[in-house]
Amino acid sequence: MPFPQATAPRDPPRLLEREAAAWLILVFTTALTLVLWDYSHTHRSVRALERFEYRSEKEISILRSRLQAYEQVLLGGAAFFNASEQVSRQEWHDYVEQLNLDATLPGIQGTGFALIVRARDKSAHEQAMRAAGFANYRIQPEGERDPYSSITYLEPFSDRNLRAFGYDMYSEPVRREAMDRARDSGTLALSGKVTLVQETDSDIQPGFLMYVPVYAKSVAVDDLASRRDHIFGYVYSPFRAHDLMRAIFGESNKDIEIELFDDSPAPANLLFASADANRAAAQERELTLVFGGRQWIARVRSSAEFDESANSDEPLLILIGGLALDTLLFAVILGSARHRRRMQAAAAQIAESRDRFQTLVENVPGTVFRTAPAPPWHALHVSRGIENLTGEPPERFLSGAVSCRAHLHPDDAPDVLGAITQAVTDHTTYNVEYRVRGADGVTRWASERGRASYDSSGTPLWIDGVILDVTDRKIAELAIRDLAFYDPLTGLPNRRLLMDRLQQQLSVSARSGLYGALLFADLDKFKTINDTLGHQIGDQLLTEVAHRLRATVREGDTVARLGGDEFVVMLEDLGRTRDEATALAANIATKILHSLARPYALKKQTVQCTPSIGLAAFRGHELSVDELIRRADEAMYRAKSEGRNRLHVFRGEDH
Ligand code: GH3
Ligand code: MG
Repeated sequence: MPFPQATAPRDPPRLLEREAAAWLILVFTTALTLVLWDYSHTHRSVRALERFEYRSEKEISILRSRLQAYEQVLLGGAAFFNASEQVSRQEWHDYVEQLNLDATLPGIQGTGFALIVRARDKSAHEQAMRAAGFANYRIQPEGERDPYSSITYLEPFSDRNLRAFGYDMYSEPVRREAMDRARDSGTLALSGKVTLVQETDSDIQPGFLMYVPVYAKSVAVDDLASRRDHIFGYVYSPFRAHDLMRAIFGESNKDIEIELFDDSPAPANLLFASADANRAAAQERELTLVFGGRQWIARVRSSAEFDESANSDEPLLILIGGLALDTLLFAVILGSARHRRRMQAAAAQIAESRDRFQTLVENVPGTVFRTAPAPPWHALHVSRGIENLTGEPPERFLSGAVSCRAHLHPDDAPDVLGAITQAVTDHTTYNVEYRVRGADGVTRWASERGRASYDSSGTPLWIDGVILDVTDRKIAELAIRDLAFYDPLTGLPNRRLLMDRLQQQLSVSARSGLYGALLFADLDKFKTINDTLGHQIGDQLLTEVAHRLRATVREGDTVARLGGDEFVVMLEDLGRTRDEATALAANIATKILHSLARPYALKKQTVQCTPSIGLAAFRGHELSVDELIRRADEAMYRAKSEGRNRLHVFRGEDH
């Protein structure tokens, strides 16, 4: 095809794939973002949980250590009793004071000794105590019990602690249970929750006690019965739970809140609750602390401060940032895919319009072309019409196998190429007509109209144009011209053309100075032939006469038919003198006389006919064309009147 095939990528499935890919990427990146967010979130939660667990276990371990430290104090006290014959009030005071518990183990309410008093010894005991300086001493509460226990030492022996002096802890079941357990096991026993007798009316706190049994000296207490028989008393400590726990958990702990229960986590068993222990926390767990034969439950929650520090914005930032990036990426990819689709749609549209344009070009009658703007006029586009004109398909022009102007008739080529080159130079449209020699050997007439296109600097880029086959018109034009200038019967120039050529010849002769001559021939008695044999025979005769006249003279000489049976022969370049020219012309006239006098073998019969010829010589513009013809005519009449079938030379003096 003359135009490159439109290869618009009409490929919607691939485009849809691209858009689908954008969606896929969106799904994938969003999923990835969610995974990262989840991971970050989980990771933080796990870290928070781990930290919380570590912190809570650490607190409980501190509590355990503290309780163990108290145990050591009480075990020390018991050992003091076991090692001494008798422990005086002052010694106990010194012992406890030495420990400096307020500084080393703050939170302990006191460190004391409860003595077992048999019912039978009660009044003796009370009297002895009163005698020792405590006038109001008595075992309290009142009542008949056996045995009694009485708090006889309690350091520091002041303030609240004075309220416990002489108190029988056996009288109260919770304390009794712990005391019995200590006695039976021979080890430290922790009591359940109690309200200490030290409590006043204000700031009443839950309390608990620790007991370490002291047995009678020099007695083996390796079984339960002997322990029960020989229990002497208890080294013990009362604790105000709030004071103790505040001292332990104190200010340092900002991460967790604690609720501490005796035995089980019921409100009635609550020993201690830190300030904000009831809030709904992110983390919560219960830890069990077994000590002194009892279990404490610590319900631990993360503090507001802890939750805040654990509550990082990182996962949210990952989520929001990730989703924003995902959306951006998606928008970019989708945008590009859509842009591509629009571009391809546009390309398809262009290709379509190009196809239409090509069809249009192909359907235009004639040849539409684009060539280079200068020789060798390389073909850029040529429509199929060129084949009708030249017989060569457009492909051969486009491939360069056939040169673009190769079919131009050589006679026409210089003018045509000159006109085109000039139009390109002048930026104008050219119109040329020329003959084309087709591959089939037939010559056709072409009319070409074209114009060059230029770049911004005025350099010609190419020539666009159209070539029409105007052979028919040209033939018609030639026919019309022939009618005007030629005799239709014989094909010889008519009077008008003769006059024209004669005029030209006079000019040529004027330049060259050479003589020429006119021979005026009129057939003798032609009318008779016409009348007797018919007009058709007459015509045949006239045609044959024309042939014989042409055959008698030189190529360059003109033979014309003026009309009827009148012929004129114009002879050129006959000589430098009139006589010489006249002699040469007379010679030719004689040849004509002989030639025409020969019988004419026409279709039906043979005819005899002769001419009478007048001769008039000429040189330059000495005579007008009309005068010249008149003279030749006159000479011809002379020949007629002299008897026909002869030549008469015009000489001025005769006429
Ligand atoms: P003359 O010897 O005096 O010339 O006698 P003529 O008969 O030839 O007379 P003239 O030249 O005057 O007559 C010419 C005749 O030619 C008159 C006409 O009938 C005839 N003629 C003229 N044109 C044509 C033509 O085209 N075809 C034919 N067949 N005859 C023609
Ligand atoms: Mg005649």
